Amino acid sequence: MFYRFKLWLSRFMMGRYGIDKLFYFLFAVYFVLSLINSFVSSWIIYLISLTLMFIMFFRVFSKNIYKRQRENAKFETLYYKVKNKLKIRKYDPYHVFRKCPKCKTTLRLPRRNGKHTVCCPKCKTDFKVRIL
Ligand SMILES: [Zn+2]
Repeated sequence: MFYRFKLWLSRFMMGRYGIDKLFYFLFAVYFVLSLINSFVSSWIIYLISLTLMFIMFFRVFSKNIYKRQRENAKFETLYYKVKNKLKIRKYDPYHVFRKCPKCKTTLRLPRRNGKHTVCCPKCKTDFKVRIL
C-alpha cells in the first residue's frame, strides 16, 4: 500500500518543480505567522498564511520549472544581500556605523568618544555625530 503510494507520488511529481530554498523560507514565515496567530488570532494573519500555503504548494507542484528556478534565484540574491547587510551591523569594537543624513550612505567611523564633525566622502556633507 505504502509502496504503491510512493510510486504514485514519484510519478505525480515527475516534471514538477518540487522543494527549494524559497519553499523552506515561506514555510518558516508560515510557521512564525501561525505561531503568532495562535496568540492574537487575527483573520488578516490567517489570510496571509493561507495565501503563503497556497503559493508554497503551487510552486512545489508547478510544471513551469524554469520560472520557479528564476524565482528561487531572485530570492537567494535578496537573501544574501540582507545577510551581508546584517553582517556589517554586527558589533565592532573599533568602529561605529552612522548614516549620512543627506545621501543615506552608511559610514564606518572610528569609535572615539565625544562629539565629532564628519564629512561624508560621497556627498561631501558635514554632519555631527556623538559617540558614547
Ligand atoms: Zn553623504
